[in-house]
This record gives sequence, C-alpha cells and structure tokens, in this order.
Amino acid sequence: MAVEVRIPAGFVSTGWGTPTVCARHGEPAVEHKRVQFVSSVSPFAYLLVLLGLIGLIVLAIIISSNRKQVMATAWPFCPQCLQRRVKSLYVGAGVLFAGLVLCVGSVAISSSEGAIGTGLLLGIVVLITGAIALVRSNWPIVAGGRVIESGQRVEFRRAHETFAAQALAAEQAAAQHYAAQQAAYAAAYDAQQAAAYAGPPPGVQPYAAPDAAAPPSPPQPSPVADDPQPAPATPADALSTPAAPPDALAPPADPPRADQP
Ligand SMILES: [Zn+2]
Repeated sequence: MAVEVRIPAGFVSTGWGTPTVCARHGEPAVEHKRVQFVSSVSPFAYLLVLLGLIGLIVLAIIISSNRKQVMATAWPFCPQCLQRRVKSLYVGAGVLFAGLVLCVGSVAISSSEGAIGTGLLLGIVVLITGAIALVRSNWPIVAGGRVIESGQRVEFRRAHETFAAQALAAEQAAAQHYAAQQAAYAAAYDAQQAAAYAGPPPGVQPYAAPDAAAPPSPPQPSPVADDPQPAPATPADALSTPAAPPDALAPPADPPRADQP
C-alpha cells in the first residue's frame, strides 16, 4: 500500500536517515544515484505555453525563480526502479524517433497540403508524448519525490510502507537525540549556575510567615449536649440519674425564644 512520506531536506542532502530501501517499491537498494529533487510548479503555469514564445519565457522565469532544490548524494534504487528508468528511456526515445519520422515523412511523401498538415500535427503529438516519457525517466521522478515547504522537506506521495517506516524511525531517532542533547545542555547550564551562585548571600534569611507555624485546626465535632440523640450513658451517669426522655432534660426555667420581644 502506498503512503505519503515527508522527509526533512537535511536527511536527504546529508544521507543521514535515508532509508536503505527504495521509495517506490520498498525493495533493498542495489544502486545509489545522485538525485536532484525539485519543487513542482503549479500545473496552471504550464498554460502559459499556449501564449507561445513569450509564455514560454515567462514560464521559464517562474520555474527558475520559484524552484527549490534538494540534492541527494546517494539515493537508493532497487532493480525494479532501474528497470522502470530504462523502459522510460527506451520508450521515450522510440516514440520521439517515431514522431520525427512522422513529421519528416509527411512533408516528403504527401502531395496535398491537407495531408502534410495532418501528418505534421500527428507527428508533433507523438513527439510531445515521447518527450514526456523521456522526462519520466529522470531519477527524481523514478524515486517519486518532490521538494515542498520552501525546500524544508522532500515529499513522496506514493511511497512504499517499508520506506515510510524507515524514514519515520530515522526522524524519531533524530528527535530523541535532539532531546537528549538539550537535556545535557540544560544539565551543564544548571551545574554552571549552581557553581556561580551557591546559595543565598549572607544576611538574607529565608522568608517565613509569622503564623505559618500554626495552621488552623480542623473544626472539632460539637459537644454531645447539642446532639438531639441521647448519648450512650456512661455507667456513672446511669447510676446517678435515671434515664429520661430528651425533652425532660431541658431546664424548665428557660422560657421559649418565641416569647422574647
Ligand atoms: Zn524500487
């Protein structure tokens, strides 16, 4: 299954973290090639060709000014990749030659102007097809990569899973290495700070609040007397006073609060 992979440009150009299998098939590489990945121009830009020579010049300026490049010194290719490239080369060259023959033949053999025009048009279409096939034999296109994010990464839109897994593992290893490096730097910085600033200067006492020593105690449960339920009588109470209902315990002299003005 094909997946999309985006590899940091630094990995591609230095070769560090570059997978050992090819991007397209996930097969072990048998050859490593110098490959120049480039960013793609919007397909609409190619409509400028319709304007003729001026359009072609403008297109060339757009491509040369916006194109970002990432050079891989040793990019992996498997036997299938090499085969694909050779096939594209032969097919492209063959079709180009056929287009050339059509163009020349139609002019040389045909007698009527209409036949020459038709033959020429057909020849040009075949020539363009051959040129496209030849372009597809380029190493970056065989690898299936293009530069994105202003040259920060190289994208493989239809990469093999094995290739993607290796690329991801390399990026994770790099992230871990970076994190470890940052931690080491931080530790070294802390040690340096500790050496330069060993404790508070003399005369300065650590701040403490005046009543910080006495934290508020949690509220204690109220005495048993407020409890409407009769408390279990201790043996001494049981001997001195007889058990009475809760109402009888209230002092008779105390008038009800409702009568107060
Ligand atoms: Zn391959």
